[in-house]
Amino acid sequence: STHVLWFRKDLRLEDNTALQEALNSLSPNDKLLCIFHINEQQLHPKTHSHDYFFSTLDHFISNAKESNLTIHVLTGEITDAFDRLLQLYPDITKVFFNLDNRGFGQKRDLSITSFLESKNIQVNYFEENHLHQAETIKKPDGTPYKMFTPYYKQWRQLPKRSFQKINLKQYSHQLICHEDNFLLGTQALKELLANRNTDFSNIVGEQLANKQLNTFIMAYLDSYDTTRDFPFLDSTSRLSPYLSTGTISIRKIYQACQHLPDSNGKETFIKELAWRDFYHMIYFYHPNQYKEELKEKYRQLPWQQENINFEKWTNGQTGFPIIDAAMRQLNETGWMHNRLRMLVASFLTKDLLIDWRLGERYFSEQLIDYDAASNIGGWQWAASTGTDAVPYFRIFNPTTQGQKFDQQAEFIKKFVPELAQLPSKYCHEPSLLPIELQKELNFEVGINYPLPIVDHKMARNRVLEWFKEY
Ligand code: FAD
Repeated sequence: STHVLWFRKDLRLEDNTALQEALNSLSPNDKLLCIFHINEQQLHPKTHSHDYFFSTLDHFISNAKESNLTIHVLTGEITDAFDRLLQLYPDITKVFFNLDNRGFGQKRDLSITSFLESKNIQVNYFEENHLHQAETIKKPDGTPYKMFTPYYKQWRQLPKRSFQKINLKQYSHQLICHEDNFLLGTQALKELLANRNTDFSNIVGEQLANKQLNTFIMAYLDSYDTTRDFPFLDSTSRLSPYLSTGTISIRKIYQACQHLPDSNGKETFIKELAWRDFYHMIYFYHPNQYKEELKEKYRQLPWQQENINFEKWTNGQTGFPIIDAAMRQLNETGWMHNRLRMLVASFLTKDLLIDWRLGERYFSEQLIDYDAASNIGGWQWAASTGTDAVPYFRIFNPTTQGQKFDQQAEFIKKFVPELAQLPSKYCHEPSLLPIELQKELNFEVGINYPLPIVDHKMARNRVLEWFKEY
């Protein structure tokens, strides 16, 4: 009979549970057909994360071919696509995939599972993308945690599944190779890529993901606790894009650290991996969280909607250099450093009183590592509306944060080139640049770089009053 392996956001041949289980299930006369389904509904709007995902998919398909694994591309509504597949392979008896247990993926998985089961096809699915699944870690009373620290205590102690090597060669004669029947799907993928930005060659694929992991571990892991907050050092792992496409397994990252001697850097890094699981768990229990504040008392906060300040924030034209540098990094590269994500989210919500949902949506369009659970979690954290969020009275000062975490303005100068010629100390507050220096440098504040769009001190008091009322 024919068994089907369905790839999704798990574009890797190493340590992939569905792939391993599908291979294990093959008896000598069975064949394995590998598929990917392009879901047209999810292709709009065109976002950085889609561009990145499809570039990764394209690379993955070519790379898999080198290991004699053909990935056949299906298009169209999912049950129709499977209907057509069953006409070509009436002997399909088993389907394997790694589960997508959130949002659209969850609905699709539920409907396709009942469709396949109605045809007497066995559906085998696996929880794959996290070290601990949403329902694994609970309070002693059986309810999910709201606060990270007690969640993390349990998370840290629980044993974790280990990394598995996959030997594809052993099964090469059982893998169904390229079939003309799938040319339509291949063509659809080509067309899709032709209309997109696919300039991601230096950050796609398993090989580069592994290289990145090794470089990070060798060069930065030990000092991660002290260096991770300084954007210009670029010393965080940069593994998030690979994780968002499933190019690297989370078990591999964890295990690579686990084997190393203890250090504060290692412990802090592992804690970040737990935050990823924590936000996934919160999203699992609150699937509507992108619509409403988790803290009920804040659901009536009168957030402002799109306005000119929102536009200035998205374009990196707020007059606060660290905020502008961060937003321009996002717009130009599709990625932003974690400390800066916290700062720009705080600025949008606390200084401008603009709805965190708008910021969340903008990030979802721009980030190549977009992950709904972490993004919504991060935004609700910054807006003080999440379950375990920054208290509303802890408000980042964008100027002093810049001075603290980018003292020499190296990051600012890189992404806000109009400030590059200024002495570093003025890069944090260009409006303080003395008139004589402005003349000497041919730089006029308000002309060459915007004046701050808001008075932070005023904004701070305003938001404090605002939250106090609720
Ligand atoms: P590292 O510091 O090297 O961390 C290693 C890994 O741990 C990351 O790749 C990520 O998977 C995980 N991680 C680290 N910090 C967090 C965190 N705070 N929450 C959840 N997981 C974390 N992360 C995303 O992957 N996608 C998003 O869409 C996203 N949106 C965010 C929005 C806001 C407002 C904030 C404050 C944070 C957001 N994060 C998001 C979390 C974090 O900023 C990124 O994971 C991190 O910057 C990625 O860079 P890195 O791989 O070098 O991280």
